[in-house]
Amino acid sequence: MASLLPEGLLEIMQCPRCGGSLTERAEPPSLVCDACRIAYPIADGGIPVMLDDAAAPLDE
Ligand SMILES: [Zn+2]
Repeated sequence: MASLLPEGLLEIMQCPRCGGSLTERAEPPSLVCDACRIAYPIADGGIPVMLDDAAAPLDE
């Protein structure tokens, strides 16, 4: 899968809730924290929205 974020950005991103690492998800474009079971949306242009208000709980 092609990276949604600019090279190297994912490696330095942390979950704002728990400080854990994040993984990319393509549909919908988002960064997922498995520990918190939430997904932060990635806006057009590859800018992740790391706001608690924007985070969506994982439903699977
Ligand atoms: Zn987290």
